[in-house]
Amino acid sequence: MVKLAGSPESLRRQNRTNVLNCILNHEAIDRTQLAVETGLTTTAITRITRELIDAGILETGEKAPLKSGPGRNRTQLTFTDDNTFVIGINFAAWERQMVLANLKGEAIAYRPFELSNPQDSAQTLEEISHTVNTFIVEQKIKRNRILGVGFAIAGIVNSTAGRLESSPYLGWHDVEIGKILSDKLGLQVAVENLNNIIAMAETRYGCCANKKDMMLIRVGPGLGGSFLFDGKLARGDKFQAGQVGHIPVADNHILCACGQKGCLNTIASGWSILADLNLSIPPASSPGRLVDDGLLLEDVIGRAQNGDEVVTAAAFRAGSALGDMLTALYKALAPEVVLVVGPIAEIGSYIDGIQSAASNNKITLPLFTPNDQKFKSVASSAALHGLSEFLFSPRLRLAELMPVSATLDHPYLSGEINP
Ligand SMILES: [Zn+2]
Repeated sequence: MVKLAGSPESLRRQNRTNVLNCILNHEAIDRTQLAVETGLTTTAITRITRELIDAGILETGEKAPLKSGPGRNRTQLTFTDDNTFVIGINFAAWERQMVLANLKGEAIAYRPFELSNPQDSAQTLEEISHTVNTFIVEQKIKRNRILGVGFAIAGIVNSTAGRLESSPYLGWHDVEIGKILSDKLGLQVAVENLNNIIAMAETRYGCCANKKDMMLIRVGPGLGGSFLFDGKLARGDKFQAGQVGHIPVADNHILCACGQKGCLNTIASGWSILADLNLSIPPASSPGRLVDDGLLLEDVIGRAQNGDEVVTAAAFRAGSALGDMLTALYKALAPEVVLVVGPIAEIGSYIDGIQSAASNNKITLPLFTPNDQKFKSVASSAALHGLSEFLFSPRLRLAELMPVSATLDHPYLSGEINP
């Protein structure tokens, strides 16, 4: 491997990254201000921004009025919004969806997708890559104008290697998702745990911008979490942080998909609501019933929203169990904000259960739920993750975006081939 650290190429990439991040922090900015904020010379700024304009990443907008300060060139620079893109993919029990987003992070097109057998990783990745290729063709986009793909999945993800270590709810182990999809698509792919993806998107672009200490819980058939301390994701040893659903708390001997008994999943998840209603049997959130339980939960959420008292009471009990856990975690970690997201968090009585338990524990949680806040879709968050990884980082492949390199030799790069 070529060692880049400290090399002129590495320095160039880092300077370019600093410039791009500085532009991200302003809606529009001129070169003089960029030089001031990045500490680079105006010559360096001129060269870097010219490259980025040539590559179709930046465009010049209106000239700002010259109020004060040095410099002749006050032309505002902004990101283009119609010629370079990222794709975000969410592969969860709910909302299996891909989204095409522009460099401003705006979603341009969505495409939901179905899978014939989610437990089969090889077949699933084949189907997803086929759908992505169809999506690209439908959107009439040249493949070399796509910076990369952000991929969100539930489970323990080694994000450095792009590998899913394990996912109890899918029954997948050691799947090289990043490499497999990248080979199939001819695109860079960044794989990340979906809770981490939501946490990063909401703190960088969404409802919790500028919050640095956050606890996020996502409730679907199972429960998962993500924690940010001082603005950084807590990944834990071997990327295992965040498995809130598998904290053993209940003395109920109910088996969970992870193999343990009494996990929080057995009393506070979407699955636990189904079990409470005698609609599902242990193990909790098992791969074998992923599809059926998903359909049952959709029905249960609908019943709750229509005021069905039996369902409402079951959701309240599950919410209370999560509320007790959140109280304990809040006491230990003292986050500025607690986000509870996911389809089950849309049931009002589930949230009431959380609040009630916190109140019984004499705690006021700084809680944000779908009732208070419209969260970004997970697929949009995955696209924003793609931007973070492939635009606002030294991984940006600028040469491939330059007009002269439009004939790079990957078979899909022309975008003309219908895979
Ligand atoms: Zn478990």
